[in-house]
Amino acid sequence: MPIYEYACRWCGHQFETLVRAREVPKCPSCGTEDLERLLSLPVVKSETTRAQALAAARRRDKALGHERTQEQLKYERSHND
Ligand SMILES: [Zn+2]
Repeated sequence: MPIYEYACRWCGHQFETLVRAREVPKCPSCGTEDLERLLSLPVVKSETTRAQALAAARRRDKALGHERTQEQLKYERSHND
C-alpha cells in the first residue's frame, strides 16, 4: 500500500498516511477531507510544503473572514511608515 504525504487545505497540518483503495484520507487535526497530496521529491519538498502551508493559511483566513488579513495590512502599513 502506498504511503502519501498530505497537507490539509484548511489548517495546514501535514501528515503521512497509508491510503487504501476507496478510502478517503482525513486530516487528523481538523478532520476535513480537503487535502492536497504533496510531492515526495526531497529537494523541492521544503519549498513546496512551505508554499502550500502559506496557501493553506491564506485559504483559512479567507474562510474565517478578513479580520486577520486586515490586521496584517495594518501591521504592514505601520511597518512601512
Ligand atoms: Zn486539517
